[in-house]
Amino acid sequence: MDIVVFGAGSIGSLFGALLARVPEHSVTLVGRDRHIAAVRDSGLRVTGVDDFVVRPSATTDGTDLSADLALVTVKSFDTETAARELGTGAFRAVCSLQNGLGNEETLARHLNCPVLAGTTSYGAVREAPGAVAWNGSGDIVVGPWDPRDADGAADEVGEAFAAADLSITVADADGIRRRLWHKLAANAAVNPTTALARVENGAFGNQPGSDLVEPIAREVAATARASGVDVDDEEAAAAVAEVIEATAGNESSMYRDVERGRRTEIDVINGYVVEQARKHGIDVPVNETLWTLIRTWEAGRELRDP
Ligand code: NAP
Repeated sequence: MDIVVFGAGSIGSLFGALLARVPEHSVTLVGRDRHIAAVRDSGLRVTGVDDFVVRPSATTDGTDLSADLALVTVKSFDTETAARELGTGAFRAVCSLQNGLGNEETLARHLNCPVLAGTTSYGAVREAPGAVAWNGSGDIVVGPWDPRDADGAADEVGEAFAAADLSITVADADGIRRRLWHKLAANAAVNPTTALARVENGAFGNQPGSDLVEPIAREVAATARASGVDVDDEEAAAAVAEVIEATAGNESSMYRDVERGRRTEIDVINGYVVEQARKHGIDVPVNETLWTLIRTWEAGRELRDP
């Protein structure tokens, strides 16, 4: 399969490298100057869970590309630009592996091909130009964002990832939406809270932190139901508890972003919950407070677009 990975940062470089190990796949990374120059010069080095070097194609120009699949792995605030650039090319399907919700709608606005949604619990950090650390394996779930796109594209992506020995499940449109909302509940409960309290994820498994994550999960579940996705309160709370337990010793990505003074993905996490809740006339005061606090921090650091 011909695969473009748009956003050769941490997770994009990892999946790009793992897919590039399969002789039948041809991978093109789209990324920034220094990383792309290093990949062209010396290949892409993966360390951690496994150590290897691959030599995928690499470019800084994401326009006019064509492939069977475009994987989107930019941070959510770059999705609009990525979608515009990808929209100048031709793809059999595009698949977001980003966190949060709302990325798929952005891709669907600019691309004239089936849009797939995906979640992943693999972990990676791009450590230096040409080098990515593979920190943990987990699972990948993909499925059609729009039920009208259920034409086999998700199955083809499943086969391409499985050929690289990646743990992947293909869901139907209902299944992937429920999965995305479960993950949204976990991200909404764990990311801003750990970033603001400056603690590892496990701190919110016990009181007093656990008293705060429960109402966040309930608000996300209520918003999912109002949006037509069948998620009950217990499922959302269980999704949060599972992530807190499995990643107890980790710093969340938002905690790391705040520590390093970088813009966060708050708008597609708690921000998405607030926007959808407003649309359906329901109150989500805890999510709204967290969204406001993180946005205020970003504005104070001049990290947000004017
Ligand atoms: P990241 O390391 O910042 O990678 C994104 C890369 O895309 C950056 O190198 C960025 O460059 C580049 N980029 C952005 N716009 C571009 C453009 N127009 N052309 C070329 N390159 C462009 O972020 P990440 O940690 O991989 O996360 C990506 C997404 O995956 C997020 O939604 C995240 O929540 C999700 N995710 C990550 C992990 C993980 O382990 N890292 C796990 C699961 C899910 P600049 O920084 O220079 O803009």
